[in-house]
Amino acid sequence: MTERSLVSDGERVFNFSPGPAVLPLEVLEQARDELLALPGVGISVLEISHRSPAFDRILEETLADLKGLLGVGDSHELVLVQGGASLQFSMVPMNLLRGRPESADYVVTGTWGATAVKEARREGRVHVAWDGAATNYDRLPAAGEIRLSDTPAYVHVTSNETIQGVQWKRDPDVGAVPLVCDCSSDFLSRPVDVANYGLIYACAQKNAGIAGVTAVIIRRDLLERSRDDLPTMLDYRTHVKNGSRPNTPPVFAVYVLGLVCRWIRDSMGGLEGMARHNRAKAKLLYDVLDASAGFYAGHARPECRSDMNVTFRLPDEATEKEFVKGATVRGLVDLKGHRSVGGIRASVYNAMPMEGVESLRDYMLEFQQTRRA
Ligand SMILES: *Cc1c(COP(=O)(O)O)cnc(C)c1O
Repeated sequence: MTERSLVSDGERVFNFSPGPAVLPLEVLEQARDELLALPGVGISVLEISHRSPAFDRILEETLADLKGLLGVGDSHELVLVQGGASLQFSMVPMNLLRGRPESADYVVTGTWGATAVKEARREGRVHVAWDGAATNYDRLPAAGEIRLSDTPAYVHVTSNETIQGVQWKRDPDVGAVPLVCDCSSDFLSRPVDVANYGLIYACAQKNAGIAGVTAVIIRRDLLERSRDDLPTMLDYRTHVKNGSRPNTPPVFAVYVLGLVCRWIRDSMGGLEGMARHNRAKAKLLYDVLDASAGFYAGHARPECRSDMNVTFRLPDEATEKEFVKGATVRGLVDLKGHRSVGGIRASVYNAMPMEGVESLRDYMLEFQQTRRA
């Protein structure tokens, strides 16, 4: 049986992909309905000029709605850039570290944080203030385990490690040092106190839309660190000065980000409501793990479990393969874990409906039953 034959044309399955990931049905429907002609414009968003009044409005509204949701005040600038979160692994140290004598401190709680370290080392001194590799990134540092350097240029953390399923529940306290956070896989999934951060970045394709656009929120005073010899497009000031439009932005990705922001605001109760919804979904799955007598063994330690990526192992790889196969037949797709952790990863981002998680929970309970019999 080919994979295609499992799903009839036009039917949607529950998509547990780690990214690009599930989008709200309402957003897809609106994008579909408006695809041939934006209301009142008569042109598709796919073919519109990025300097047209219609796109002016889309960009303005998207930026305003995003700022509104996150509570971005006058102390910070919010820009949309291209290049994904991966480019931010470079742009952050290019702008905030290059040419400075002090080191940038990285708290490494998973694969993405480790990747960020590699790129930062190209720009200056890096100090790894904590690294969870010894236990394959199954936990966060305990209070007092983080060893900062004397005067770090900034401290970098990853709020949710997408591959391992480890999520900070509250910001680490780094005093007056600018805190930089890769929020890519829990962006817009819960309230965030922007004032606590020097810089926040997040690609859109996990929780907030489609690939092509990355949000960067930067405290105004940090913009003064960028050096004049930076390539124009890699200098945060270029994006701030030009209102996220120094060249052609990814028009469609900006439009979808705007639709997602409005969905969160108008249908999900803002970030507070979004967080309640996400916590309830994740709890359904963690409750199955905890009641399974070790049949489903969670990767992350309970106190740092992610509400976004639920990672767990089954007794052996053959059983895991069976599990994934059976899930696919039931329309629960893309559950295979990342090769560095193995097992299963259920990504239950903002747009994963409760019914999808309930369906997965029911399948997990049944699957365990059949193995016991
Ligand atoms: C997906 C992801 C990235 C990489 O994002 P790209 O847009 O593909 O570069 C970085 N950090 C985290 C936490 C992610 O989840």
